[in-house]
Amino acid sequence: VITKEDVLKVIDKIVEVIRENKEYLTELDSAIGDADHGINMDRGFEAVKQKLATIPENSDIGTILKTVGMTLVSTVGGASGPLYGTAFMRAGQAVQGKTELTEEDVVKIFEAALQGIKDRGKAQAGDKTMIDSIEPAYKALKESLENNIALPEALKRAVNAAKEGMEYTKNISARKGRASYLGERSIGHIDPGATSSYLMIKALADVIN
Ligand code: ADP
Ligand code: MG
Ligand code: MG
Repeated sequence: VITKEDVLKVIDKIVEVIRENKEYLTELDSAIGDADHGINMDRGFEAVKQKLATIPENSDIGTILKTVGMTLVSTVGGASGPLYGTAFMRAGQAVQGKTELTEEDVVKIFEAALQGIKDRGKAQAGDKTMIDSIEPAYKALKESLENNIALPEALKRAVNAAKEGMEYTKNISARKGRASYLGERSIGHIDPGATSSYLMIKALADVIN
């Protein structure tokens, strides 16, 4: 099982990884967007860190994830704020009241987050967005667990799938978000949001082992 302490460690790890990759994410966004993805994400996750320091000791995992989501919506700005915000809020709703998570809960979290992003942004796999990392990761995780692969290994497979999906965004043209204004000219560049998603999924797998 995954404890509440594990969840808080994962969030801390995400804060750290986003901070370390702030310049890189911004550089990716400078090629096909407006050069702010790393800045946006880092602002959001620094705010998350501050916010989580103030929530009641007895908060459940659902409340923690919802707090992350609300903080991202109100601080990130840009397209990624409402999208990641919705993802974390939906993830929180999926495990409302829980103080421990089972493997099935982890699958539910991914499913709810992915559906939230799709509902909010109307993008699908292949549109060159964060979905191109998250959807393959979700599928790999679900399939691995269904085949009785232990969670840490299933998460590693999810990371590999996310990485492949992220790399694939280099070969396709954007159909959603700012990069879509470039059309075919967005080909040849990795999507910044697919990269931040990959980094977050990797942070999760690195902590849960
Ligand atoms: P903005 O484009 O408003 O400056 P960011 O730079 O923070 O916002 O985030 C850009 C990322 O958001 C893109 O790389 C892409 O992955 C993601 N994105 C944009 N629009 C959508 C959408 N409709 N659905 C899913 N992801 C999207
Ligand atoms: Mg941007
Ligand atoms: Mg912007």
